[in-house]
Formats: sequence, C-alpha cells, structure tokens
Amino acid sequence: MTIFNVDNKAIIGVIGLGIMGSSFASNLLSRGYNVHVYNRTKEKAQSLIEKGAIFHSTPRELASAADIIMTSLTDETAVDSVAFGKDGLLDGARKGSLWIDLSTIDPSASIKHSKAAKKAGLNRLDTPVVGSKDLASKGELIILVGGNQTVFEKYEEFLKELGKTVIYLGEDGNGHKMKLAINLHLGLLAESFSEALTFSQKLGFNTKTFVETINKTPIGNYISQGKGPKIVEGNFEPAFSLNNLFKDLRLINAQITRTGAVLPMTKVAIEEYSRAIQNGEGQKDFSVIALELQRKNGLT
Ligand code: NAP
Repeated sequence: MTIFNVDNKAIIGVIGLGIMGSSFASNLLSRGYNVHVYNRTKEKAQSLIEKGAIFHSTPRELASAADIIMTSLTDETAVDSVAFGKDGLLDGARKGSLWIDLSTIDPSASIKHSKAAKKAGLNRLDTPVVGSKDLASKGELIILVGGNQTVFEKYEEFLKELGKTVIYLGEDGNGHKMKLAINLHLGLLAESFSEALTFSQKLGFNTKTFVETINKTPIGNYISQGKGPKIVEGNFEPAFSLNNLFKDLRLINAQITRTGAVLPMTKVAIEEYSRAIQNGEGQKDFSVIALELQRKNGLT
C-alpha cells in the first residue's frame, strides 16, 4: 500500500465554504497546501482567494484538478447536488483520487455516496467531524472515519492535518452513524444545561453566577464552559447553527424509528428545538435554546 504523500504539492479541493469548509480551507492554506475551492455562493470564497486559494466555477472543474476532494455541505440534498448534479464532482474526479465527506448526513446516504464513488473509480471515506470552527481552523478537530480500512490507512496522515484525533470506526457509513450518536448527546446536553440555568434563575441567581459556579465543579462541561459565558452575554453568533443541529436531530429521529430505540428525553428535546426553529431562531447558534427556555419562563 502506498501511503499518501503528505506534502504541500498535493492539490486539495474544498467544496462548501460555510462555517466549517472555510475553516478547513484556511487551515490547509496556512499549512502550505495548494487549496482549490468551490462554493455555490462565490462571494464566500473571496477571503480564501486573497489568501491564495484557486476558485473553480463548478464542482466538476475542481474535482478534475484535485488529489483529494473534501465536501462540507449542509445535508444530503446538498451533497447529492454537488456530487451527482450537472457539472458534479463525480463527472470530473480523476480515477484513484479520494473524496472525503465532512458534512453530517444520514448514514444510508453516506453508504449510497460511497457506492457511487467506487463505481466512478474514486476512493471515498465518510469523515464527519466533532468540534467547531475554532478547532477546524487550527486542524484540531476529532474526525470519525468510516470506509475501507486500506484507503483509511493510505490517507491517515493527511486526515491528521485536519484533526488531532482521527478515529477509524469500520465500514462505510459508520463515521456518520457515530456522529449522530454524539450529536444526540450534544443536543441533550444543551437542553439540560438550559434547564439548569433557567432553574437557577427561578431560584434567584443571575446567569453569570450560575455559569461561573458550575464551571468550578466537576459537572462543568463542553456546553457550560464553551457556550455558557456566551449565553450570559446574549451572544448567539453561530458557530454551529440551530438549523444544522435540528437537521441532525431529524436524522437521529429517523434512526430512532428505524431501530426502535426508546429515548424519552430525546423526544422532548426535539420538540423544544423545533419550537425555537418555528420562532425564527434557526440561523443563530444552537445554544439559543437557552434563550428560548428563558423566554418560556418569563425571564427575558
Ligand atoms: P453552513 O455554514 O451552513 O454552510 C453550509 C454550506 O453548504 C455552504 O457552503 C452552502 O453554500 C452549502 N450548501 C447548502 N446547500 C447547498 C446546495 N443545495 N448546493 C450546494 N451547496 C449547498 O454549515 P457548516 O456549519 O459549515 O456545516 C457544514 C456541515 O458540517 C453540516 O453538515 C454540519 O452539520 C456539519 N458540522 C458543522 C459543525 C459546526 O460547528 N458548524 C460541526 C460539525 C459538523 P452557500 O454558501 O452557497 O449557501
């Protein structure tokens, strides 16, 4: 097996320059890679072009230039359109090149994409990520990998340029399955934090006191430490949008139906997030769920 040569001569194509894709591209540029980019909305590529990225006007054109094609897109529909649509990446990709999908999508879609890639002569891994834009721009994400083990081992060193922890989980779709399980915990954690915060307010504490106190205890966690101080400030600038977390909760719900899992808290949390979406908060960070609960309790 030839190990992929991790040098900056390789051409890396990034398709999708949202919060995460632009951070991946920026990280790779700072590491000296030749980074080629495509985004449906070209304006979002401007700052990367100024840093040296090459813009392509179609996924097909980008794929024909790249050794590795990365997709970081909202959902299955977006990946389908970029991969299989007119001027899609599968039409342009060179045989033997690699496509990694860092989006969070349904595991069965991931398996479907892998089959199509293999048919077109490409290697593909599902590589959804844990961590947000700060870790993405430093190359310190956690990457959950599904797909052929030989392909994974060939490209493992490259994946470590994107994530400090790279975890191989087995066959196609397994990266995306694990990602859903982790994001279920993330969604429940944010709802649970919001309830404790609101309860503390009802007991007469202000939000700053609650956040500072919980973060001095062993109960402090990713949400209370990472999001808590921002919730106190009322800062809901999106690092991970409520719309995207809710998209994952819908995928989780479909897997709950498929597997017959009985998850009572999940049902309630999905209703709460759904209400926040209906109230027009979808573009904000998912931690806005705390604000929703405060409103419901007459606290804002
Ligand atoms: P985002 O900021 O909303 O960006 C979404 C990207 O998808 C944009 O480039 C958008 O293009 C593109 N897109 C959407 N629909 C499309 C379509 N039909 N055709 C072509 N392009 C389309 O999302 P993000 O936060 O970067 O997340 C990207 C993926 O990573 C999602 O699956 C998300 O769940 C996952 N994720 C996010 C985080 C996080 O912390 N943000 C963490 C882990 C995983 P336009 O610019 O043209 O709209």
